[in-house]
Amino acid sequence: MYELRICHLYPNLLNLYGDIGNIKTLKKRSEWRGISAKVINLTIGESFVPENYDIVFLGGGQDYEQEIAQNDLLKQKSNEIKNAIKNDKVFLCICGGYQMLGKFYKTWDGKEIEFLGALDLWTIGSKKRMVGNIVFQCDFLQSEDCDGRIVGFENHSGRTYLGPEVKPLGKVLSGYGNNGEDGYEGAIYKNVYCSYSHGSLLPKNPALADHLITKALKQKYKDFTCLSQLDDKFEILAHDSMIKRVIGK
Ligand code: GLN
Repeated sequence: MYELRICHLYPNLLNLYGDIGNIKTLKKRSEWRGISAKVINLTIGESFVPENYDIVFLGGGQDYEQEIAQNDLLKQKSNEIKNAIKNDKVFLCICGGYQMLGKFYKTWDGKEIEFLGALDLWTIGSKKRMVGNIVFQCDFLQSEDCDGRIVGFENHSGRTYLGPEVKPLGKVLSGYGNNGEDGYEGAIYKNVYCSYSHGSLLPKNPALADHLITKALKQKYKDFTCLSQLDDKFEILAHDSMIKRVIGK
């Protein structure tokens, strides 16, 4: 029997707008297929042991919570997380968590906070917050059953910019995305997937959830090929009705 171990980093600090729904979705969609899934909560003062997890999740938080977690991230977990990324561990990072994997965050009032520097990206805060529903296109998710459109909710002041080695997760169809300027949303680097989308992201975007589960199982088990099909009628209903609300079709 296959087993997935999902690490939820700083669940008590970084968990905005239902981000925990991402953990629940990864767990449930695994279990519905007979794959055992275990969630490990890891917070301040606890060691990050990469071999113990198959997927790592880092949710969003406002500047205040980010600063608290940042201290621990840099002092306690920096090398281990960087090595895990180097070794192709699967990560999903949302909003504040996404920003924290980057190099730094300059807040809207001029404070510069050093972040992990695991990914070549950086964030500059602005007074105008970017708030609302977002739809973006992920070409790598396109299949017979999925047109690759992802829907979520964003609320951030930070504008994120990507260095050359980091690719965007998708192209914005409606909303702000990374910075409201270049038309891109989120980031992909190795097996690290980052997005500004809360909402939460995975429950109504099952293709992305399955993409992450598949990546993690392929990393862990040489004989794993693909996931079995689930009946996603409720997930698709949620997805399609949001898309319709945001962009009309
Ligand atoms: N503090 C960050 C910002 O406002 C992240 C917010 C969030 O995670 N929603 O840009």
